[in-house]
Amino acid sequence: MNSETDHQPVRTKPWGFGMHSSEEFGEEEKALVLGVLDKKRVFRFLGSDKEQSEAFRLERLYRERTGAKHALAVNAGTSALVSALIGAGVGPGDEVIVPAYTYIATAAAVLLARAVPVIVEVDDSLTMDPVALEAAITPYTKAVIPVHMRGVPCRMDEIMEIAGRRGLVVIEDVAQANGGSYKGRALGSIGRAGCFSFQQYKLVTAGEGGLVVTNDDTLHERASIYHDSAFVYWGMNAQNKQPAFPGENYRMSELHAALALAQSGRIDAIVSRLRHIKSSITAAIGDLPQIRLQPIPDPQGDVSYSLVFYLPTAELARRFAQRLAREGIPNGTIDNNGFADRHIYKNWTYVMEKRGASERDTPWNCASYKGNVEYSQDMCPKTLDWLGRAIAIGLHQHMTDEDCDDVIRAIRKTAAAF
Ligand SMILES: *Cc1c(COP(=O)(O)O)cnc(C)c1O
Repeated sequence: MNSETDHQPVRTKPWGFGMHSSEEFGEEEKALVLGVLDKKRVFRFLGSDKEQSEAFRLERLYRERTGAKHALAVNAGTSALVSALIGAGVGPGDEVIVPAYTYIATAAAVLLARAVPVIVEVDDSLTMDPVALEAAITPYTKAVIPVHMRGVPCRMDEIMEIAGRRGLVVIEDVAQANGGSYKGRALGSIGRAGCFSFQQYKLVTAGEGGLVVTNDDTLHERASIYHDSAFVYWGMNAQNKQPAFPGENYRMSELHAALALAQSGRIDAIVSRLRHIKSSITAAIGDLPQIRLQPIPDPQGDVSYSLVFYLPTAELARRFAQRLAREGIPNGTIDNNGFADRHIYKNWTYVMEKRGASERDTPWNCASYKGNVEYSQDMCPKTLDWLGRAIAIGLHQHMTDEDCDDVIRAIRKTAAAF
């Protein structure tokens, strides 16, 4: 190769694919949203006509998709997590184990349920390390939230085995992995409950929105009570056996439900295209000795919108990332990206500093809590190490085979220089 062609970037075409979710807005979304306006009813209805409700239809779709007995639509992924935790009986005095790499909302949900988050390492799959999970269990541990980060299924066999043996409730955070599976089972259907998000950055969107699936009648009833401050007084929930307690108003509107419903009909097509894209790229770079691909606990279940590989050190990763960007492929190391990424525990400032809305009575200093959890910036060095030397490239369902080829050639060319 002469030096002139070597200095030509692999790709000069812009890389502009937009979001996975809203890029797909089309006729189905318009029809369902306008249909709600025609019905002149934007509040979800729970009465005898409830089957006409878009929220009801959304819940039915997710019962079908996950095989779960119950589904509850709510107004955000965070609300779904809070409702599931409250539903499972988590509260003051309890500890809930969360991974060091997840959106801050996972830890916030634990605090909103008045429990204490305990932060544990992720492994090279960038999902919860089962060994770290087991080591963090105390007499106060009530639940664990495995998070299927970047569409990658967690090591659910190990996590479920530990949780079963130690008596912990498993609540899956599926916000980033809608449409994924683990050994043939839909993500969200393996633990006691699964929590989805329809925020715009997720695979499919309603702008805002969330959903809880579960087979547990009590969890479902309690989550339902929590998502509506008058739920038990509506009268149409006569089968409800749980006593009333105050709840937030986390209900989903019909407009959001209509959008989420139209979008959710697209999941399987999007995921199957993403899987094709990712596997064609990984098959063509797996032989490179300079990089190591992120191990995926079940590759067939990967939602596949994120391609991650590791360099031996953070410094090499930084240089590799810059060089790859010069070849025309947007990418980044996950840590050290020049901003305080709130997906990394050390940047969860209010958790690190144990701050609540009121200083007088937080989940950490309330009388019910007998544990002594400690946090520090460097408490999860393995997580920081993996994130520091991970390079991530976002994949999009609209990438063509030619775009995939550019990614492959750019990675191979960059690797050759290392
Ligand atoms: C987005 C996200 C949430 C919160 O969802 P919202 O709908 O924004 O409340 C929770 N956990 C993870 C892992 C997320 O990515």
